[in-house]
Amino acid sequence: MPCLSTVPVAANEEVGPGAFLLRAEGDFPAAPGQFYLLRAWDRDPPLSRPMSVFDRKCGQISFLIFVRGQGTRRLAGLRPGDPLTLFGPLGTPVRPRGGRMALVGGGSGIAPLYLAAKEFRTAGEVDAFLGFRDRPFLVPLFQEVASRVHVASEVGAGGVKGVVTEIFRPHGYDACYACGPDGMLERVWQACRSAGVPLWVFLEERMACGVGACRGCAVRTVGGFRLVCRDGPAFPAEEVIWDG
Ligand SMILES: Cc1cc2nc3c(=O)[nH]c(=O)nc-3n(C[C@H](O)[C@H](O)[C@H](O)COP(=O)(O)OP(=O)(O)OC[C@H]3O[C@@H](n4cnc5c(N)ncnc54)[C@H](O)[C@@H]3O)c2cc1C
Repeated sequence: MPCLSTVPVAANEEVGPGAFLLRAEGDFPAAPGQFYLLRAWDRDPPLSRPMSVFDRKCGQISFLIFVRGQGTRRLAGLRPGDPLTLFGPLGTPVRPRGGRMALVGGGSGIAPLYLAAKEFRTAGEVDAFLGFRDRPFLVPLFQEVASRVHVASEVGAGGVKGVVTEIFRPHGYDACYACGPDGMLERVWQACRSAGVPLWVFLEERMACGVGACRGCAVRTVGGFRLVCRDGPAFPAEEVIWDG
């Protein structure tokens, strides 16, 4: 059952260009794929902002926030002791398939993959493919929980110069999991489909209630409309109707 709580911010650190690791105190449950609705304001903007759980340990939860607009700017500006309101956990957890698993993240899509790597490694071997626009960050953290970490950066500031789809090859994996912009997800899906490797994609849609009541985050799948907040955010790629 999701809970609503307001807790003080424990730390908020800029870990990369426009990316903040926001930590809050408290025993918040979360499984890979799940997210919380966050807010640190009263009425404006009206909606809370969905954020994947980056990590959780006893007594602390963290989110990796990429600044985009008004809400994420407000979250990025929080200081230790400021109140943060969390509603969750929301979404359906994604399970590890086992065997050799690849996690593929582009831009803010790396956010849900750390918890997935940490939890999935008990079920098999996990490799991470991470794509950054500017200089890479948090790579040592991923190296602690993944067997191999492959890095690409668009500006060539670390790892291979290019985007994550240029370094990712699905061959040899039993399952892949990807999060990032739609165009990247479609390219990862094309590669996985050709290689016959199952893929789960983490979809992002603007959402309001987070619990399936407003139906604002519906996406088209082969089985009809499904809700990112309740049925996802992770879906088998073969069920998604791709627009591109
Ligand atoms: C389930 C889920 C998990 C997410 N996890 C993370 C995370 O861990 N870290 C992170 O940085 N972001 C995450 N996002 C995206 C994040 O919620 C949006 O970037 C944020 O809501 C934007 O709010 P804003 O007020 O800053 O921007 P706004 O001013 O509302 O919009 C600024 C720009 O962001 C775009 N945008 C707004 N909401 C979304 C959205 N939900 N998805 C994609 N683009 C959006 C708008 O189209 C606009 O171009 C997640 C989204 C979902 C649905």
